Amino acid sequence: FNSPFLQLLAENGVTLDENQAAAVTETEGSLLVLAGAGSGKTRVLTARTAYLLKVKQIDPRSIMLVTFTSKAASEMKNRLLSYPEMKRDQIQQLVTGTFHSIFYRILMFHDAGNWANDKLLKKEWQRDKILKEAGKELGLSEKEFAYDAALQQIGYWKNSLIMPQDVKPLTDWDKNVLFLYKKYEEYKRQNTLFDFDDMLLGCYQLLRNSPEILDYYQQRFHYFLIDEFQDINKVQYELMKLLSGKNQNVCAVGDDDQAIYSFRGSDPSYLLDFEKDFPSAKVITLEQNYRSAHEIVAAANQMIASNKTRRPKQMKAQFSNSSPPLLFFPYDEEEEATMIVTDLQERILNGASPSDFAILYRTNAASRAVFERLSSSNLPFIIDQDAESFYDRYIVRSALSFLKLSLNEDDSESLSDILPILFIKQTMLKEIKALSILKDCSFLETLSLLNTTHAFQEKKLKKTVPIIQSLKTLTPVQAIEKIEKEIGFLDYLKKRGSESNQLEKGSDDLKDLKTAAKSFHTIDALLAHAEHMSAMNKEIKKLSKHFTDAISLSTIHRAKGLEYKTVYLLGAVDGSLPHDHALESSRNGDFSPLEEERRLFYVAMTRAQNELFISVPENRRGKNAARTRFLRPLLTPRKKANFQ
Ligand code: ATP
Ligand code: MG
Repeated sequence: FNSPFLQLLAENGVTLDENQAAAVTETEGSLLVLAGAGSGKTRVLTARTAYLLKVKQIDPRSIMLVTFTSKAASEMKNRLLSYPEMKRDQIQQLVTGTFHSIFYRILMFHDAGNWANDKLLKKEWQRDKILKEAGKELGLSEKEFAYDAALQQIGYWKNSLIMPQDVKPLTDWDKNVLFLYKKYEEYKRQNTLFDFDDMLLGCYQLLRNSPEILDYYQQRFHYFLIDEFQDINKVQYELMKLLSGKNQNVCAVGDDDQAIYSFRGSDPSYLLDFEKDFPSAKVITLEQNYRSAHEIVAAANQMIASNKTRRPKQMKAQFSNSSPPLLFFPYDEEEEATMIVTDLQERILNGASPSDFAILYRTNAASRAVFERLSSSNLPFIIDQDAESFYDRYIVRSALSFLKLSLNEDDSESLSDILPILFIKQTMLKEIKALSILKDCSFLETLSLLNTTHAFQEKKLKKTVPIIQSLKTLTPVQAIEKIEKEIGFLDYLKKRGSESNQLEKGSDDLKDLKTAAKSFHTIDALLAHAEHMSAMNKEIKKLSKHFTDAISLSTIHRAKGLEYKTVYLLGAVDGSLPHDHALESSRNGDFSPLEEERRLFYVAMTRAQNELFISVPENRRGKNAARTRFLRPLLTPRKKANFQ
């Protein structure tokens, strides 16, 4: 190309191919860059920003550069700083960040009083508490009703610009959540509080209701650059449309095969239908994959081709390392973890750098065994800040509370944990304590003396108390089985599940707990281990903020946009990836969740640069597991030779 600046970039290691260069230099008018994983979309956005600044002499304050995470934004700024002839102050003046951070800054500027940081509901438990308070009016139980799912539903509505008055409830669940939604919004209004979703909604309302302010920003921003456009949601899209209304200068970059946030209201059709709202848009596709070895790209291409709703793409790799994605077949989750950690230990001992490796999984709970093995190794590793310890999960903690209570019948915290499972209201706690003093017996024994409104419940409690007392004489696995069946934990979960529209939610946690408990002969040992792991989780999180050269443990969702030399993917079996709930939907004729799971698999595979190891445990949760259906297209006889 005849741009000396691109020449200079190339000399500094930032080469661009012809299509990439076009996407960087076509700066006027809307542009859609639609391309597969690892094709340099993010590199294009970074280089385009540099090009705007350096060659087009654009004022950095008129460029809005949006990334999916704040980490990605700071990485992009660091990249820019490393480019030739970039000035630090210029880069600092760019308007970059996530949609949330950018629009929050705008809101603060215009109406700081109402949006002060101390009024932000930062933590999930804060929002949870408001819902639970509201739920009392409906008589929804604090622990039985799935408030976490309700919060997610409310977020989905808000991000889709569905206000309470727009909701058409069909089921009891919808009706309950709509009630909570209204109360939640009302509570926030009365107490001048706000949540993350309100940052976007508030800004949307601000711009819609104040033509002068809208006009100001439309004049101010001339260039919009948006990464990961396939996961944009309605309110973000509308905001972007409003702001870019005058000059339509939007550069959207994405890959429909990597849309993985539909549960939060993200919608890839904004990417695929981009030309509807931006009719003059140019479309550039990138076909070279620069990240991964040919063998990985070929397998990922073939795997994702089974999705029906997608824009077909061809991806060619740059290099080959003659090592195809490798399947391995551990006996179960435990052996899976052991095999990976052993492999890591050997490689790192031989000089590999820990940060070359990532271990990816579908859900956080699936990382339990790997977390445990790594914790007892001397390898440095990092986890997500919001990754909860397996042993702190509500269901797991409740099950352990039965065990604790069996060892210490006066443990009041554990008693409080198990009350809902025995269908006793939390408000009875005081009464139980008083009665135990009066009758001079332990908290646990007192349960069998309770006068409840139902005779059958009294009878059941009289039967249950000795069972809880007997737990301490059993092995951990036997004890958990007793809790499931004889104490009625599974019945409780069934009831909770049907109320929240999520069948059997939580029974998986009990199965996972049984798998974990197998390694322990005594209840004491299991409890000590649980406590240790919970503390370890907090410790590793603290360390994760500072570690630079460490193995990454991450959900696939969190690994979006990132790359690692070697990737281990856990649990490539039906039920885990694809997740059970997607299989369930597909049995009912709805295939879109299954397609989203396949995209997740695609995202996972395409994080790997040189090596991809896919673990297919033979057993999962104590049962035979089937190799994930996503790998079937790759195992046709012709391809079989590629896999060992
Ligand atoms: P994803 O879809 O996963 O977000 P992406 O399309 O954004 O991927 P990048 O992360 O920008 O891809 O690039 C993938 C890798 O390829 C990076 O390591 C990047 O530096 C490298 N790369 C991109 N373009 C080129 C190129 N023209 N020549 C050499 N390497 C390149
Ligand atoms: Mg990217």
